[in-house]
Amino acid sequence: MPLILDGNRVRDDIKRELAPRIAALAALVRPPSLAVVLVGHNPASEIYVRNKIKTCRELGIQSEIVTPPESVSTAELLHTVECLNVRDDIDGILVQLPLPSQVDTRRILQAVTPAKDVDGFHPCNVGSLVAGLPGPRPCTPAGILELLTRYRIPIAGKRAVVVGRSDIVGKPVAMLLLHQHATVTICHSRTPSLAAVCREAEILVAAIGRAAMITGEFLNPGVTVIDVGTNRVDNRAEVARIFRGSPEKLAAFDKRGSVLVGDVHPLDVVEKSSAYTPVPGGVGPLTIAMLMANTVASAERRAGICYQAGIC
Ligand code: NAP
Repeated sequence: MPLILDGNRVRDDIKRELAPRIAALAALVRPPSLAVVLVGHNPASEIYVRNKIKTCRELGIQSEIVTPPESVSTAELLHTVECLNVRDDIDGILVQLPLPSQVDTRRILQAVTPAKDVDGFHPCNVGSLVAGLPGPRPCTPAGILELLTRYRIPIAGKRAVVVGRSDIVGKPVAMLLLHQHATVTICHSRTPSLAAVCREAEILVAAIGRAAMITGEFLNPGVTVIDVGTNRVDNRAEVARIFRGSPEKLAAFDKRGSVLVGDVHPLDVVEKSSAYTPVPGGVGPLTIAMLMANTVASAERRAGICYQAGIC
């Protein structure tokens, strides 16, 4: 049986390691603080933000939510971000995506001061990532590296294939793997012979957004598979097809009306890989943990505390 890379376990370890750093900040200056900008009423965004705030509370990180209306303009949102930029009591700023269509998302993300950019999306921080300089790394890719490192999956000298080239996952995770001396190939929707390229991978990262697209024919026996995809399948026949009629999965579907499926085929990965992240419970839990880690690191940098070991 392959090794299951348990994101919940690693998340709990990371949170445990953050606790003394947060206590030290609270004793020396004040607890770290995160501001979240949540525009309008997108149900998925509201759930993500609720979970982030809940984790802040658990860890003793101060948090506040700013909630501009759905009709907010780019200029108004720039003003909101600017107010948070200059506030001394805020260490991290997160603008929850997606923003409404009338808002220029790029301008908003570029307006967040790099020192408080806990998502690592500002071009200055992207530059630091590429140059291998210290700075906040995008949370999901950073979580993937934590998972591989803590499970002692060798990266140096390995062939890594990343499917997906988004700014949020694909590109930054490729860069992090490269810095760890993997030989990295990035694939996307125009890559010919995708299955053949994926079969060369010793580490395969799937960040596509298509349920169970990476089937057994894409997997080199013994590959380590990191499945970033979180796809809600709400068609019973599709659930039956993907899980080959599994009574448990069909019962779960009948109860909830949908089933969460990664980008990698959930049965094929068990047959072919030597280690893999399950969906749910693999990469997902690490994203918020790394947001917390970035917020703590930002607070430490702003307080002039240098934390060397481990995270960030
Ligand atoms: P995205 O911005 O939509 O990017 C998807 C990438 O997949 C694009 O680069 C696209 O190629 C590529 N792609 C699409 N169809 C393809 C195909 N048939 N063959 C090869 N490549 C294909 O998505 P994202 O933000 O990176 O997210 C990817 C997945 O991860 C989603 O399911 C998302 O929900 C999930 N996610 C999970 C977490 C977490 O915490 N677990 C965090 C972030 C994202 P092109 O560039 O050519 O269009």
